[in-house]
Amino acid sequence: MIARQAGASPGTLAPMDYVSTRGAWRDAPQSFTSILLEGLAPDGGLAIPKQYPRLSATELAALRPLGYADLAFAILSRFCTDITAEALRAIVARTYTADAFGSKEVTPLSTLGPGLHLLHLSNGPTLAFKDIALQLLGNLFEHVLEGGTRTLNILGATSGDTGSSAEYAMRGKRHIAVFMLSPRGRMSAFQQAQMYALRDPNIHNLAIEGTFDECQDIVKAIAANAAFKRRHFLGAVNSINWARIAAQIVYYFKGYFAATANDDQTVSFSVPSGNFGNVLAGHVARVMGLPIAQLIVATNENDVLDEFFRLGRYRPRRAAQTHATSSPSMDISRASNFERYMFDMVDRDPGQLAALWRTLERDGEFDIAGTAIGARIASSGFVSGRSTHADRIATIRDLHHAFGVIVDPHTADGVRVGRALCAPGIPLVCLETALPVKFAATIREALGFEPPRPTAYAGLEELPQRCTVLPADASRVEAYITAHAG
Ligand SMILES: *Cc1c(COP(=O)(O)O)cnc(C)c1O
Repeated sequence: MIARQAGASPGTLAPMDYVSTRGAWRDAPQSFTSILLEGLAPDGGLAIPKQYPRLSATELAALRPLGYADLAFAILSRFCTDITAEALRAIVARTYTADAFGSKEVTPLSTLGPGLHLLHLSNGPTLAFKDIALQLLGNLFEHVLEGGTRTLNILGATSGDTGSSAEYAMRGKRHIAVFMLSPRGRMSAFQQAQMYALRDPNIHNLAIEGTFDECQDIVKAIAANAAFKRRHFLGAVNSINWARIAAQIVYYFKGYFAATANDDQTVSFSVPSGNFGNVLAGHVARVMGLPIAQLIVATNENDVLDEFFRLGRYRPRRAAQTHATSSPSMDISRASNFERYMFDMVDRDPGQLAALWRTLERDGEFDIAGTAIGARIASSGFVSGRSTHADRIATIRDLHHAFGVIVDPHTADGVRVGRALCAPGIPLVCLETALPVKFAATIREALGFEPPRPTAYAGLEELPQRCTVLPADASRVEAYITAHAG
């Protein structure tokens, strides 16, 4: 057994192997770089570490004084063991800069009142927390494609924040092109301008005449076409990408250290949730040994996950039953990362996981209330609640009135549910997932005035925009990719 040390070079750490949640790769575990470009296994499952790294108390204490980039290196080096320490250090140093994220803390913590904190995750280039993972992903992709001859064609669907974040992370990068599907006319004016105003030749905005779910279905259909996928070297940056989860683990550590004075304390996190990627990273941080008391899952009116955590019944809605809400980035009926959490809750038995998913396919739902799985879930630190339009408006008003801060509608959902469910005496860290300027209409409704706009974004909506409008038809999107792939 080699002695481990926080921040040690990956060379001294055991290699991290990845398996599929549904059993593939058990006899042929994959490396980090082999799952980096996608994260979906051949059996339809998701890539996940064979076992999570566990930090001793000494190792945890050694992380406390680290700045963001060093902390990111210390955490990520345990997951990215087939990238050299030197290269990984350079990648995180290039990614997590004050220049890109607005401050040297990268994710600063502010304190609103006793035991109530906001962890600011939204000061990256597109003003949503997704930049923290996608800026890293852009640099990781560039690293693994370096020296090759092929261009990776990234295909994705967005309801707003993922698309712009991915495009800003990949714009101008050699050997990478982005084909991003968005539901035409269904994003906020700011979100749409962020994407469609980009002029980089490697960025292709496809405005689909349909909903976000239809966009996602098209992406899935094309990704299922193995021959097409190989021919055009297609990759993905969607929220099932494991590297995104790994990158998000870092700020749970950062937020914990900022909210506590020593490692004997516990903290609860409240997390506005859609695809379950953000809060899954919190789950992994907790399993790694971060003293997290509660992970509070906040949903909006699309409360599939809230229903599951309260009742044990998982009943994803169909696209037509998914509400369009004023926290649109959480308008998700089928949370893709939920499968990774459930894999842990069935004690990492792919057979059990696959059986649950077969039930889901057959009956449209499964129910684990009263089972051993239910008991494991009850002790996994998760609680949940839902927030409605009226709740988020009231929360935005209340926070402005009481503390002089303006939060975006998603963050408001998190604060609302977090305050309702947090255990007394334990500090609550609410994750800020976007800046209010991205959702100005809701801020106007709540407060009667425009949210503040960072100066770099003045006049964004007036810039010329560029996109290609296509019907919700996978064959038309394939034809576009065939004509424009790098
Ligand atoms: C993506 C997003 C969410 C949901 O995060 P998940 O990782 O999908 O659970 C919440 N708020 C905002 C602003 C987002 O962009």
